Amino acid sequence: MLTDSHCHLASHKFPADELPTLIADAMASGVTRLVTLATCLGDLETNLSICRDHPSVRSCIGIHPCDVHEAPDDAVDQLRSHLTDPRVCGIGETGLDYFHPAPGTWSEETFRDRQKLMLDQHFTLAAEAGLNVVIHTRDRTGSASFEEALAIYRKHAHHARAVFHCFISTRENARRVIDLGGLVSFGGVATFKNAKDVLDVAADLPTGTFMVETDSPYLAPHPHRGSRNEPALVRVVAEKLAEARGETVADLAGHTTATAEDFFRLS
Ligand SMILES: [Zn+2]
Repeated sequence: MLTDSHCHLASHKFPADELPTLIADAMASGVTRLVTLATCLGDLETNLSICRDHPSVRSCIGIHPCDVHEAPDDAVDQLRSHLTDPRVCGIGETGLDYFHPAPGTWSEETFRDRQKLMLDQHFTLAAEAGLNVVIHTRDRTGSASFEEALAIYRKHAHHARAVFHCFISTRENARRVIDLGGLVSFGGVATFKNAKDVLDVAADLPTGTFMVETDSPYLAPHPHRGSRNEPALVRVVAEKLAEARGETVADLAGHTTATAEDFFRLS
């Protein structure tokens, strides 16, 4: 029993005819549940059809912060018609990405403002649906995207929970998320040789406050770093975290799966 709480099965890096093998490989390494995340209106139906073909997969629906410039103004509204679909288990991937430069004619300011507006709209939608939110934050330097996403979450924390995925920040920042009722999740970065800080944060967190993920096809864990990531490799993340926490992989897999089942209403 292991849950990959964050992957992108509709990515062009996962050709459709390879998906049955990818998912079978994940099952063979103990992964019983996968959460795939849409990133734009264009990949929504692909994610949902993957759920239809593979009962172990559920989907979050949202507009990734790096895609907000291509999304129509009413993109989040357009997600509304899918809220009652039983394959939909959460809202995301949304968030704030201050790492990538603003595209085309966008200024940094207008691009960030659109990301913030859409993050806020995702929370409103989640509250309406009784679902929770998956947040991406990334900075070139400093932690503005984290701080500003946390401020938006704080406004909505009474109505929806959020997970800060691919968490690489400090113990104190993890605590601030958890204090609002949120979660963090750890992926391949926790296995990198230079990521001892991330492991130290994961080592201390109470059970029920974090999940594991791959973010595949991105961010393959060590020693696969640089190659295409896939859901089966969530086991590598789980093993590294379990070792750091002094618990068995089975225990870690059990409580992180229970956390994911609760957060994504998967039961
Ligand atoms: Zn992602």
